[in-house]
Amino acid sequence: MTESTGRLRLMAVHAHPDDESSKAAATLAKYAAAGHEVLVVTLTGGERGDILNPAMDRPGILENLPEVRKDEMAAAAAALGVDQMWLGFVDSGLPQGDPPPPLPDGCFALVPVEEATEALVRVVREFKPHVMITYDENGGYPHPDHIMCHKVSVAAFETAGDPEAFPEAGPPWTPLKLYYTHGFIRDRIYAFSEELEKAGMENPFREWLSKWKREQGDIMARVTTQVSCADYFPQRDDALRAHATQIDPNGFFFAVPLEWQQRLWPTEEFELAQTRVQTAIPENDLFAGIEET
Ligand SMILES: [Zn+2]
Repeated sequence: MTESTGRLRLMAVHAHPDDESSKAAATLAKYAAAGHEVLVVTLTGGERGDILNPAMDRPGILENLPEVRKDEMAAAAAALGVDQMWLGFVDSGLPQGDPPPPLPDGCFALVPVEEATEALVRVVREFKPHVMITYDENGGYPHPDHIMCHKVSVAAFETAGDPEAFPEAGPPWTPLKLYYTHGFIRDRIYAFSEELEKAGMENPFREWLSKWKREQGDIMARVTTQVSCADYFPQRDDALRAHATQIDPNGFFFAVPLEWQQRLWPTEEFELAQTRVQTAIPENDLFAGIEET
């Protein structure tokens, strides 16, 4: 199989600023570096995020979180070499408690799917992506905005090419492939954990692995496409660090030395959820099967 070169368009749809850096970020950087147009669409402003990095828990940050996160997002997009835009919905927050509290008024997860879909369809028709990436039906993790992101992305993929759908949202454009990313892959975390144990280093994955629920299923069984992108892990890490309020530089994202990650797990994983072109599975290129014109 050959890898595509030249100028095609790839759109990744994400719920919050930082999701683009923690899910398939090196793939975005790789396609951007190859000269393709890569656009991250961020559905919400991440207004209800917490400060997850103790070093950023200081005056002036939490009070101005939406502005701070805009700056972080711009730095992350620059690190990945991609374009980014906001769709302007409001973060729903992750409801905590049993029973969970009601979702806050006006938040993204309460917006009618049709209304949010139209907003995304408008962007699809302007940017004209050949390939779209979003989360699987589980959202990667069960945040209401992630589930909503999945629904809206699938609906936009399915309707953007239909002239009868959302006629106010611009002339139709039919994207050709839709991919899902998933949550963390157990085999990958296990490989990292084993290597940390062997080296006698601190292993933040041990407890996590012991609690891994069987019913989460085997994500690798759903993977159709593995993109080699180890050369872009440094850019991914720069993008993660750019989200300074959300990512602790001493946290598990950075527990495994970069060179080990490049050796042990040099790919990012995708599931081809829908395609309008012929392609052979397994794939190593998101643009496989797409003719360049
Ligand atoms: Zn998120």
